[in-house]
Amino acid sequence: MYCQGCGSILPEEAQYCNKCGLKQEKGLVGYSSKIQDPAFQKYLKNSNKYAVIFSLIIAVIAIVGFTIYGETSREMDNPGAMFIGLGIGAMFVLIAIFQVLGKKKSKTWDGTVINKTLKKKRRRENTGDDNSYLVTYMQYDVTIRDDRGKTHHITATDDATLYNYYNVGDRVRHHGGLNTYEKQDKSQDTIIFCNACSSLNDIKNDQCFRCGCPLLK
Ligand SMILES: [Zn+2]
Ligand SMILES: [Zn+2]
Repeated sequence: MYCQGCGSILPEEAQYCNKCGLKQEKGLVGYSSKIQDPAFQKYLKNSNKYAVIFSLIIAVIAIVGFTIYGETSREMDNPGAMFIGLGIGAMFVLIAIFQVLGKKKSKTWDGTVINKTLKKKRRRENTGDDNSYLVTYMQYDVTIRDDRGKTHHITATDDATLYNYYNVGDRVRHHGGLNTYEKQDKSQDTIIFCNACSSLNDIKNDQCFRCGCPLLK
């Protein structure tokens, strides 16, 4: 196993770390040392790779699609149509690159859940023929303050799962790179979220049913 504090490799049943001295929590309390598992780095590398490849495929479809449209329709001509396709394609690739960079930049930090709110909200939806109507939806928000005093939000629309999962006072760790949160005390939980793909798993499982990464417990 790995030390829950410094990540050193320890014998499987070690109670204290022989490098940094930290007591190793057992059961479902304490941040999991399994975050050191190479499966997470592998997952990240693959998901970033697929996000970029996917955006490149969309870009090619946009460029080819608009160029064909420019050749065949009377509404648009080439190279004008091709340039529009090029612009849309470049936008998709840029969004993918920014998402990958954003994940790489995100840091690991610890914090506390300080507030939970639930709001009924409205948004206007267009029907396409100059008409619009109002849709009501629920917005769930969990506020976390990190130990340096900065607040962060986890928000969801029409889905109370995360809202119910966190309680005010819970200690949480944000895992940089993965951009996900881990609850320190999981002893009262029946579910756990995968810290790689965010899938909902049974707390009894050791590995995510979807991506195979170890569950952090
Ligand atoms: Zn240690
Ligand atoms: Zn997963």
